[in-house]
Amino acid sequence: MTGRPLENLLSEERKFAPSAAFAAQANAGPEIHDEAADWQAWWGAQARSRVSWYQEPTTGLDDSNPPFFKWFADGTLNLSYNCLDRHLDTLGDKVAYHWIGEPGDKRDLTFRELHDAVGRFANGLKSLGVERGERVAIYMGMIPELPIAMLACARIGAVHTVVFGGFSSDSLSDRINDTSAKMLITQDGAWRRGTVTPLKANSDVALESCPSIEHMVVVRRAENNVDWSDGRDIWYHDLVADQSADCEPEEMNAEDLLYILYTSGTTGRPKGIVHTQGGYLTGATTTHHYVFDIKPDDIYWCAADIGWVTGHTYIVYGPLANGTTGVMYEGAPNFPDLDRLWQIVADYKVTKFYTAPTAIRTFMKWGDEYPARHDLSSLQLLGTVGEPINPEAWIWYNEHIGGGRCPIVDTWWQTETGGIMITPLPGAVETKPGSATFPFPGIHATVLDDGGKEVPFGGGGFLAITHPWPSMLRTVYGDDKRYIDTYWSRFDGKYFPGDGVKRDEEGYFWLLGRVDDIMLVAGHNISTTEVESALVSYPGVAEAAVVGRTDPLTGQAIAAFVTLRGSAEGDEELIETLRDHVSDSIGPIAKPKSIVFTDDLPKTRSGKIMRRLLRDISEHRQLGDVTTLANADIVDEIAEKAAAAEED
Ligand code: ATP
Ligand code: MG
Repeated sequence: MTGRPLENLLSEERKFAPSAAFAAQANAGPEIHDEAADWQAWWGAQARSRVSWYQEPTTGLDDSNPPFFKWFADGTLNLSYNCLDRHLDTLGDKVAYHWIGEPGDKRDLTFRELHDAVGRFANGLKSLGVERGERVAIYMGMIPELPIAMLACARIGAVHTVVFGGFSSDSLSDRINDTSAKMLITQDGAWRRGTVTPLKANSDVALESCPSIEHMVVVRRAENNVDWSDGRDIWYHDLVADQSADCEPEEMNAEDLLYILYTSGTTGRPKGIVHTQGGYLTGATTTHHYVFDIKPDDIYWCAADIGWVTGHTYIVYGPLANGTTGVMYEGAPNFPDLDRLWQIVADYKVTKFYTAPTAIRTFMKWGDEYPARHDLSSLQLLGTVGEPINPEAWIWYNEHIGGGRCPIVDTWWQTETGGIMITPLPGAVETKPGSATFPFPGIHATVLDDGGKEVPFGGGGFLAITHPWPSMLRTVYGDDKRYIDTYWSRFDGKYFPGDGVKRDEEGYFWLLGRVDDIMLVAGHNISTTEVESALVSYPGVAEAAVVGRTDPLTGQAIAAFVTLRGSAEGDEELIETLRDHVSDSIGPIAKPKSIVFTDDLPKTRSGKIMRRLLRDISEHRQLGDVTTLANADIVDEIAEKAAAAEED
């Protein structure tokens, strides 16, 4: 994006206020923003009241060496103690996780059972020589041993790096080598859509090029055959068999490393994001409490994968530290049928549900009948994260999942931010479909133009975070320069997340996608999100991606890729109708020059649309980095269709 500000094309008039009953019982009322006006003091108060410390910190923000900020640096704590031990007296018998295996098996783990399992595995790790500060890679599916492994690392002060179980052996070895991990924890195989993903076999391949790994611990889950390297490989159940459940937690410094997690790779080569202990836990517990309005009897389900930051913060550290009962499901949402998630919501009477726009659009595409089969009346609040949510998808979520009754929290944040940054407070804010509304208390965000000047309400530009916050990343692992270049060089002294945004006349934030994706059409900066949302607002459209492709006339022309709901087929007539629909809803300048119908869009393994690949296709370039792509076949298919469309 250059020169002129980002256009403000889409205007969304619908507003949804929380019910009086919800507002009356909510954890956060409107006054919370006043309470947080002295933001450093407010974060300090959260740190002292929500976290149990060995040494309570006497300091808050240390900004003596920007952008290498520290928080609560003289405090000491242990995260596994905070998530487990401190609950045992009062909540020992409370369920920490209701776990549901894809084939239908179930396990409930109480906080005490989880504590004991973590203690045994932590002792097992020590027996294999894992020491404080050493890196441990974890490559697993959604089974209870995954959070157990993370908490065991946290307990002994080892640094975990979780690699999403859907990644290939190459992605795994890259991450292991980047962190010089000493140990890999995996499982024989993971269930996915009725078949077994051979994680142990993938790990065997990865370890051929990972000299730092000394041992591989393998959980038996799918009972598929595995090769074995004696001396290197150890079964999890053998390792923990004779271990004591008591393992003294390490007293960690607030700024010691907790984990390294790689970003999902939507824009390019993933970055190894570094999170530390005290500030991270403060952010995780505080945001989880207020954003999801957590109460003691909640049945809370964050349906993300723990391989992403959403799972780290809102399946493991935030909810466990808050003593919350969570649901954890192993498998695919369409196994055995398209209503699996709604079956689980009904079975467990889930009260809070958190998922991603990509999942919501998929549910829309599958059809309304699947949620309609089940009683979803236990739900009280819904959340979304990962991409901008198109207003029509928001409305569908509200009606078909929330029964028109549940506040929706559209939460903007990143692997880098560690926790939610821009979000409705569900009892205190009127929401608008497609807007993440306002910064969380203690967080300061604004909209800047190209030259770093603040853009007034009504205009768009670059999102910037103007003050440090406790759960922020501390660096890119092993690459301080990339940390500075990527996040701190665009605007002096301010954090630059890489996203475009506008604020409406009432100051609501509307996230508009990545700035690299912004299109320059006839001198206008147009966001992909607004054009896509206009397309998705046409009945029958499930999903859309647009990119700017070089055009001799207009600089860039808008190329659109559209997926239809159900089994509908697109034709020339629909192309013209959709072009006119965009033109009518947001203006002729945004009218797509070409539209290609496709069954699917290129997505990262976390489900986000990868527009950079569509741009490569549209401009006949060699495809960029595809290692984080989930559905490689679709790219060739789209390329053929796009070429055919150009010839017409
Ligand atoms: P990479 O940085 O490697 O390209 P990534 O940015 O996709 O990968 P994540 O940290 O998983 O990796 O995603 C964060 C990004 O997701 C945000 O910067 C933003 O673009 C998008 N995002 C997340 N939540 C929202 C939301 N509620 N509304 C709009 N965009 C969102
Ligand atoms: Mg990113």
